[in-house]
Amino acid sequence: MQQIIPKKCTVLVIGGGPAGSSTATHLAKSGVDVVLLERAEFPRNQVGESLIPHFWKFTDQLGVSEKIQQQGFLRKAGGITVWNDKVHQILFSDYGYTRPGLHVERDIFDNLLLEHSKRQGALVFNNVVVKQVDLSAVEPIISYIDTREESNVAGTIQCQFVVDASGHSSLLAHQLGTRQSISSEMNFLSLWGYFKGSRYVGVDRQSHASSELKNISPVTFVMSHKDGWLWHIVLREKTSVGLIVRSNKMRGLDKQQREIYFQQSCARLPHLKELLSDAQFMDGSLQYRPDYSYYATQTCKQNYYCIGDAAGFVDPVFSHGVQNAFYNAAVASLAIREALKNTNKSARYAQLCESRMQQFYGFSRALSLGDFGINGVNRDSVKSLMKAMPPLELELMLVASEMTNRSENFKQLAHEAGVWESFSEQHEQQKRGIIDDLKL
Ligand SMILES: Cc1cc2nc3c(=O)[nH]c(=O)nc-3n(C[C@H](O)[C@H](O)[C@H](O)COP(=O)(O)OP(=O)(O)OC[C@H]3O[C@@H](n4cnc5c(N)ncnc54)[C@H](O)[C@@H]3O)c2cc1C
Repeated sequence: MQQIIPKKCTVLVIGGGPAGSSTATHLAKSGVDVVLLERAEFPRNQVGESLIPHFWKFTDQLGVSEKIQQQGFLRKAGGITVWNDKVHQILFSDYGYTRPGLHVERDIFDNLLLEHSKRQGALVFNNVVVKQVDLSAVEPIISYIDTREESNVAGTIQCQFVVDASGHSSLLAHQLGTRQSISSEMNFLSLWGYFKGSRYVGVDRQSHASSELKNISPVTFVMSHKDGWLWHIVLREKTSVGLIVRSNKMRGLDKQQREIYFQQSCARLPHLKELLSDAQFMDGSLQYRPDYSYYATQTCKQNYYCIGDAAGFVDPVFSHGVQNAFYNAAVASLAIREALKNTNKSARYAQLCESRMQQFYGFSRALSLGDFGINGVNRDSVKSLMKAMPPLELELMLVASEMTNRSENFKQLAHEAGVWESFSEQHEQQKRGIIDDLKL
């Protein structure tokens, strides 16, 4: 007998990715009655396999770090970038991190988080597609189609707060007309797929067969090319390879032509072609994301919150997406919990949450999007975040900002915030990770 979706709840979450499942966990842990509707059957595929160690503090709060450790995901030691022919390496341990980054199969990782939210008491329904959010009354009414039975059944659920964590489909921002593409001359899209039998880049700056993974830790490999940049992320059974490409390069290409472009690039680009020389492409694995960098002009109001990718997304060159989802979930849950205690202050808590989320988003965007497309970023608020961040996290991001030519905005803000100078002095000796002995 399948579980009946209730007609009412306190908080309704749309989407069971990291943003949605962590919101459900935070709220359920504090005794809030929360229902989560997810359109897909889990585990479901998702891109975004590289996690930097900052994520552990969020999974600690959620109480799920031990389960993640038990999964045995690959522990990544850091990253190597080849950007405009300059090679950099970051090793987390050099900066005092005691826990690693991870390369995770997102279907497994996301499922683990969603299962955890159920154990904390959230009511989770997969195969239920949210269609519409009616915000005209004080309590939102959410319309959905329940596809668990062969005949699709329409239904509604009323709640005090709705949290849109629907990922890049940004359900609510689309409905409200608040979703904007970042206006920039540098418009990119992404193409990615999976290979079996790829070599990988090790912490020792050499390439290795995947049979060596037990002995030599991997790093995430990122490289610029004339049309954009690429990633190579080794996983336990396969390797994720993605190309970020200027949109105009792909204009007018159909699915087959995109696949040819992808395959030819993988066989042609230096370093990548060596890593993939004996690898087999997994047929049918190529995916494509055209609407790439965007943000919602309004993310939180009295009775709704848009979080994670549903609120905004920037180029993933610094692996900030999942972390952003965790952060948004933590601040939105806090705001909702407080608003439930002080209903007359709901609007104020929503406003505070929005400004925190924008601050974090602005930080990521300044880091990833060079000196273009500043609309949507509050410079002063990003500077205050830089001044307030844990020194270890800030230091890693400052080093990362030296690895590509994408972080001019970020460096400028770091100068203005007065955090760049002390960093520069400390790192003069270390040459900020520049290396010259990469052997792939
Ligand atoms: C090319 C690319 C590479 C990336 N690489 C990285 C990386 O290396 N590291 C990193 O940290 N991040 C990376 N990211 C970003 C990362 O994948 C996302 O930021 C992260 O998944 C956001 O989590 P989320 O919970 O907001 O959304 P999602 O993970 O997208 O989850 C949203 C969920 O909502 C569900 N949903 C959607 N619509 C509905 C509906 N109408 N009704 C019910 N459910 C619905 C979806 O099925 C989905 O399960 C990358 C992104 C891209 C595009």
